[in-house]
Amino acid sequence: MHPTAFFGITTLRRIKIIALLLALLPTSLSQVTQASEDTMANFTKAPIDDKGLFTNVKGELSQGGLNVRVPFMLRRFGTYFRSGDGAPTLSKNDGAALRANALNKEKATVTWVGHATVLVQMHGVTFLTDPIWSDWPSPMAYIGPRRFVAPGIEIDNLPKIDFVVVSHNHYDHLDLPTLKSLAKRSADTKFFVPLGNAKLLNSQGVANVTEMDWGDTATYQGLTIHCLPTQHWSKRSISDTRKTLWSSWAVTGPEKRFYFAGDTGYFPGFKEIGEKLGPFDVAAMPIGAYEPNAMMKASHMDPAESVMASLDVKAAQVLAIHFGTFDLSDEPLAEPPVLFKEAAAKTALAGDKTWVFDVGETREF
Ligand SMILES: [Zn+2]
Repeated sequence: MHPTAFFGITTLRRIKIIALLLALLPTSLSQVTQASEDTMANFTKAPIDDKGLFTNVKGELSQGGLNVRVPFMLRRFGTYFRSGDGAPTLSKNDGAALRANALNKEKATVTWVGHATVLVQMHGVTFLTDPIWSDWPSPMAYIGPRRFVAPGIEIDNLPKIDFVVVSHNHYDHLDLPTLKSLAKRSADTKFFVPLGNAKLLNSQGVANVTEMDWGDTATYQGLTIHCLPTQHWSKRSISDTRKTLWSSWAVTGPEKRFYFAGDTGYFPGFKEIGEKLGPFDVAAMPIGAYEPNAMMKASHMDPAESVMASLDVKAAQVLAIHFGTFDLSDEPLAEPPVLFKEAAAKTALAGDKTWVFDVGETREF
């Protein structure tokens, strides 16, 4: 028998039949395939150095010499009463539309609460990134960087929060008073943190904490939560430098894909994330805290680097975060979004794909 006449039909007819069968398959199959590909994406676990501390792929980061750090600290004291001129506009969100949308699987939204705090709704699930409602990201009120803009929505006005992702333990990202409030508000709220951070939350009565390494995934009501690399560090006290891990996060679902970069320098990991998990409908990218450059460059991105990172992760739209909210660094308050839009204007993210929100603003995606 001629091989092309196998089963009595020609190769061409077999191809047509297979094509017809594929076309008849339920569309959800491709979503299932996407989801399983998502959980299979392979990332190298976070490296640990010879002292047993978490480190970066390129090793320990430079924070600049004492000749840079000491004058910076002195300037920080000097700017204690710095005005908030140039800080983002506050458009207070009453939360009504977000609460009404909480179970709606059709409409995805993103809201900037301020700094790295973003509220996302997708597939009928609501989650927060690095929630901070405190005025002082430090161990004590009136110590450390001051808040220039109030949170864009009151905690009491939030929809029910299904889960929270935390990028690392610096005070402006892991805010214990806020995490305790959220845990108290709903005992069901889940908290996803990078390795080593659960102990601190548990010690404050925050339960439902899941620790994850880079490349680990968790699932929540049809969404996949990915703990992913960043280039950063951790420290909350004089003796705990790099004892807990830092990360970025992706949340992927049947309809939408969201990426949250946390706090990070520009590094090759963005390309890997884009290749393995991109494209993303929205990426939330830090654009502030880049001066003095010698001290910040390894662990924070400047606006032009944030645009490069957004292109690397294959973001269709990018939301600027981590600027204008707290007095963290030397660059003028109004500068990051201007430079960010300028840098994006020369790329595929030009125009309405570059999102600079008012604090409290919501957009559908
Ligand atoms: Zn940080």
